[in-house]
Amino acid sequence: MKIKDFFRKALIKTDEILCPKHFTCNICGKEIFDGGDFCEECLKTLYVNNGIICQNCGRATNIPTNRCYSCSGEWAVDKARSAFLYEDGAEKLIKSLKYGKKRYIAEIIAPYLKVVYIKYLFAPDIITFVPMTDKKKRKRGFNQAELIALNLSKEVGVMCKDLLVKTKDTEEQKNLDRKSRQENLLSCFKVKDKTAVKGKKILLIDDVLTTGATAHAVSKVLKKAGSESVYLLTVASVQKRLI
Ligand SMILES: [Zn+2]
Ligand SMILES: [Zn+2]
Repeated sequence: MKIKDFFRKALIKTDEILCPKHFTCNICGKEIFDGGDFCEECLKTLYVNNGIICQNCGRATNIPTNRCYSCSGEWAVDKARSAFLYEDGAEKLIKSLKYGKKRYIAEIIAPYLKVVYIKYLFAPDIITFVPMTDKKKRKRGFNQAELIALNLSKEVGVMCKDLLVKTKDTEEQKNLDRKSRQENLLSCFKVKDKTAVKGKKILLIDDVLTTGATAHAVSKVLKKAGSESVYLLTVASVQKRLI
């Protein structure tokens, strides 16, 4: 070993001893000494959605199926997948991004989505995200789906485009019946520029797949504007009833 290298290595070692790097768990905030995104206890509460899933909506199921109970109705999404089950650790992580306003969580989440992206051979032309109304975005200060989409875009090298607008908040439809609610939801989303989506395979990003009604409405609007297919990738998914 050259003398120069010896001193360089010795200096790095000294730096590690005198100024140890501090890592904290992104779920509970506890200090972790050997690096990583989460502490051992929290890692155990992050349920990776890598068991048996519904081939359509990507939710965890008990038996292999092409359509589960949760996505049995009309659903305009061509294929959906999610990285985690929306329970314990993943729920806390998403909530601290959204309500704790910890924007950096989007960057931490992106590599986990990349694993799913590669595993299921998503090959979109464009990545986009479920939009928020201007009012809600102003209130929160950011759109978490947009932050996740931008970080995934960097990870996989596919362009992220802001393709949609949301014109009114979904909470405004509490008094409507199921059918009117679906129609109202559809009227909430608009495509900004139809030429940007025509003939394109689009990957839609959202934080959580719950009922799937929003993803359906957005996909329908994108397809009406001419997109060839719409895939959905979410950080986590909710399983309403196992089949
Ligand atoms: Zn932890
Ligand atoms: Zn399903």
